[in-house]
Amino acid sequence: MEPISYSFKWSDLGDIELGRPNLGNSTSVVTYRLMQYSLRNVLEMELGKEATQHFFYKAGYIAGIEFCTHALDIKKEFYDFIADLQKALKELNSSILRIEKTDLENQQFTLVLSEDLDCSGLPITDATTCDFDEGLLAGIFKAYTGNEFSVTEVDCWSTGARVCRFEINIK
Ligand SMILES: [Zn+2]
Repeated sequence: MEPISYSFKWSDLGDIELGRPNLGNSTSVVTYRLMQYSLRNVLEMELGKEATQHFFYKAGYIAGIEFCTHALDIKKEFYDFIADLQKALKELNSSILRIEKTDLENQQFTLVLSEDLDCSGLPITDATTCDFDEGLLAGIFKAYTGNEFSVTEVDCWSTGARVCRFEINIK
């Protein structure tokens, strides 16, 4: 994806502690998926499947940049950074991350997410679902390294794989 400008910022998420003194910073996966999959359906009907995937990737990308710069320490060396990312995704009840391949010299990585928030348990459709996660990882790697990466989900719960596997390559 080409570099983009955007106005979304971390503070747009609001002061959750102030706004939700009783309910706090948590919700159900049903609530999250209800919004995502109804929105996805409307976008697909209005704009088509390919454009919808592109928008989810793009949204994930800016989310990844904002998440990385506000919730992670980009000054840490690679394995400590990945350990922090793993911890953050677990604490957010987003997914369980493990790194399957690291080639620092060629900037190529394979990451696996299990129990992924977006897709775990979805019906099998033979198409990958996690366009947002692809963009999210591209944004996180962009914010951490300063380089653009292409991220492709090669396995997904929705393709019958039970985990999501992402190949991450420098552009
Ligand atoms: Zn997936």
